[in-house]
Amino acid sequence: MIYIENYIGGKLSPPASSNYLDNYEPATGKVYSQIPDSGDADVSQAMAAAARAYPSWSEQSHAHRHDVMMRIADGIAARHEEFSQAESRDTGKPISLARHIDIPRAVANFKFFATAAIHYASESHYMPEQPAINYTLRRPLGVVGCISPWNLPLYLLTWKIAPAMATGNTVIAKPSEVTPMTAYLLAQVCQEAGLPDGVLNIVHGTGPRAGEAIVTHPDIKAISFTGGTATGAHIASITAPRFLKTSLELGGKNPTIVFSDCDYEDALSTSVRAAFANQGQICLCGSRVYVERSIYNQFRDDFVAKARKLIPADPSLDSTRIGSLVSAQHHAKVLQHIAVAREEDGKILCGGDEAKLSGDLAGGYYLQPTVIEDLGLDCRTIQEEIFGPVVTLTPFDSEEDLLAQANGVRYGLSASIWTSDLKRAHRVAAAVDAGIVWINCWLLRDLRTPFGGMKDSGMGREGGWEAMRFFTEPKNVCIKY
Ligand code: NDP
Repeated sequence: MIYIENYIGGKLSPPASSNYLDNYEPATGKVYSQIPDSGDADVSQAMAAAARAYPSWSEQSHAHRHDVMMRIADGIAARHEEFSQAESRDTGKPISLARHIDIPRAVANFKFFATAAIHYASESHYMPEQPAINYTLRRPLGVVGCISPWNLPLYLLTWKIAPAMATGNTVIAKPSEVTPMTAYLLAQVCQEAGLPDGVLNIVHGTGPRAGEAIVTHPDIKAISFTGGTATGAHIASITAPRFLKTSLELGGKNPTIVFSDCDYEDALSTSVRAAFANQGQICLCGSRVYVERSIYNQFRDDFVAKARKLIPADPSLDSTRIGSLVSAQHHAKVLQHIAVAREEDGKILCGGDEAKLSGDLAGGYYLQPTVIEDLGLDCRTIQEEIFGPVVTLTPFDSEEDLLAQANGVRYGLSASIWTSDLKRAHRVAAAVDAGIVWINCWLLRDLRTPFGGMKDSGMGREGGWEAMRFFTEPKNVCIKY
């Protein structure tokens, strides 16, 4: 049994309470490690360590911060296979996905923000008529909280902590209790890389105990949160009255929009990938597919044929493309959504049931990729985020009809548009309610671009300079001469 430890003040340590929680391997449904059930006392220790580290870290040269962070990036890269196996084992995702996406992107996050630390510049504005110069000092905030979800555990954790550290803040981070292992390895890498004690502190435990202790701590200066919309609303209700800087990256119900003049094969294979990658558990997955009526029947049949070929299998095998869902609780939730779709008279075109594997994997949380049609805009299946391998197909008759359907939900995270008509691509991209729009592609993103959603998908933006701005406080100085 592996006992995961908190990382506080540079040391790996057990929780103050000595209580641990079971960590399940979703592929088998068996407990494979224990994680600290941390609470107020652990967060207080982390706060004390982070506050001690802040004066020195915030005054370090940019080059020094860059060097340390590059060593962390190199440390993750050096243990690439170990991280990939931990990521796959914790989440149930195919090992190939962890190897090719999650872990390389975590390395890229550290490298990106390490270099941002040395290139980031603040603004100055010359007023010739006075004459005067306004310049903006950008100072770090202090001790900040970073709370991340289970679907891309290392990638999303590093996406927050790296800009926070690059700008001179010290950090208390809480990974999801469901997927703690890569954060535990990251703590070891930080020790090996010589990160000064207390710059990053990782407190493991549940959202309501460890997470809430971070959010409510009187000395925390900002919260960067990625997770569900309901949790985000709860966190905002705590941070808003305190005027705490808060960034919320929340749920999505993203449309994939297929016009009849698209590159058919590309649109088909990418929309299947966008629907089911990571078992549909990526906030950017296209879970509502809208297809122009003239090609709807053909596209639907081809889509279903491809979905049927995605057979859930052992996540640790190189050949696996669909693994298990992340937890028994989430598995039950997704099955419940499928039951609702049936009650709403949705037509299940494929899937709709759990998938049973054998041997050691018999207790795993597998689900067949599920495609549903014949559901109206008001249905819960269309309106609610399911966050699993469940996708709806719907025909549309005109751009107006399409936009009414695509924009008729509370979410606005991302959209993907498939057409060869350049004018239409730009027109629909501008009109669709989404913070991120892909035209003839999916999941491509330069790390410099702002990342985040509209409507109930979030508040604020991450990525590139947006993140560097979020983690700094601007102060304008005007000097007349
Ligand atoms: P949750 O909102 O349940 O949890 C997210 C994180 O918040 C976890 O670390 C969780 O801890 C913690 N948490 C829960 N309750 C509290 C609380 N009261 N105070 C502080 N922290 C708390 O989301 P999931 O982990 O289920 O992640 C899935 C959701 O994340 C989906 O809605 C998905 O769309 C969204 N997401 C959004 C992204 C985006 O960029 N917009 C990217 C990826 C996911 P614990 O798990 O230990 O309970």
